[in-house]
Amino acid sequence: RKGTVIITGASSGLGLATAKALAETGKWHVIMACRDFLKAERAAKSAGISKDNYTVMHLDLASFDSVRQFVANFKQSGRPLDVLVCNAAVYQPTAQEPTFTADGIELSVGTNHLGHFLLSRLLLDDMKQSDYPSKRLIIVGSITGNTNTLAGNVPPKANLGDMRGLAGGLNGLNSSTMIDGDKFDGAKAYKDSKICNMLTMQEFHRRYHEETGITFASLYPGCIATTGLFREHIPLFRLLFPPFQKFITKGYVSEDESGKRLAQVVSDPSLTKSGVYWSWNKDSASFENQLSAEASDVSKARKVWEISEKLVGLA
Ligand code: NDP
Repeated sequence: RKGTVIITGASSGLGLATAKALAETGKWHVIMACRDFLKAERAAKSAGISKDNYTVMHLDLASFDSVRQFVANFKQSGRPLDVLVCNAAVYQPTAQEPTFTADGIELSVGTNHLGHFLLSRLLLDDMKQSDYPSKRLIIVGSITGNTNTLAGNVPPKANLGDMRGLAGGLNGLNSSTMIDGDKFDGAKAYKDSKICNMLTMQEFHRRYHEETGITFASLYPGCIATTGLFREHIPLFRLLFPPFQKFITKGYVSEDESGKRLAQVVSDPSLTKSGVYWSWNKDSASFENQLSAEASDVSKARKVWEISEKLVGLA
């Protein structure tokens, strides 16, 4: 049978390119889990994805109700779940003030981390039940969360501190909107959320890999300087960023190429190792990359997990 893969945020950028790459193999049915139904349908059509190879299902990660509703709808569809890709993200580098999810949580961490945390916890049982030979849960990471790299050292640097803000619910009322309890910084909130993504992947691995056989992985797909992720940046940045990445840092990767990379993590028989953060070298060959000290801190991973469980209503 065809594999079933859910990809969040498949309406543009990396998610769409991955959906296309997988659908084209004829071996996958892609569930495009998107907040804007019409945009996703149009994106699938203009990417030339054939109707039999995808289904759009509504998911707004910035609302726990919507996440639960999505899971219920998916279960009702009767499809098995073989691979889940947590890809969607928001990035608000120029925001002066925080914005909030439906549950009153700072938007970047609320969407990128907590929405995906709830989604993957609720779908774990479905993955356990699937008889697919290589089941995988993939959470897209980022180099910007890695302070052991050049790009990860561009200020403001990611830092979760003692997580007092996260423990307080990131609501800006009786707690800070930043995980470390500091004052709001949109660029840093994104980086912090990506650290949470990478810590969550490793905590999943420690808790569930042996028991379930599921492969848990994260990746840095390269700098896809042309995606919508930078839509909220100032125009001059948007103009100069792609050539800068192409010619100066040489980290630039096209949307097509990044989609092929993520598709490898979904289905390549050689990428089955669990607990790994994949990257690609200049010749586009995959390798197991090292995470920064914070992004691989075992006690922080457990703490993020435990606080997140409470915030999403699982504990
Ligand atoms: P895009 O902005 O093109 O794609 C982000 C996707 O997330 C969109 O489909 C968007 O939906 C969706 N999304 C945002 N908020 C929500 C929400 N509340 N509910 C459901 N979906 C939502 O960016 P990229 O393709 O670049 O980003 C994809 C992933 O790649 C992210 O995890 C990002 O951190 C990561 N990444 C990107 C890099 C880059 O250089 N671009 C580098 C490293 C990692 P909509 O279409 O409706 O806006």
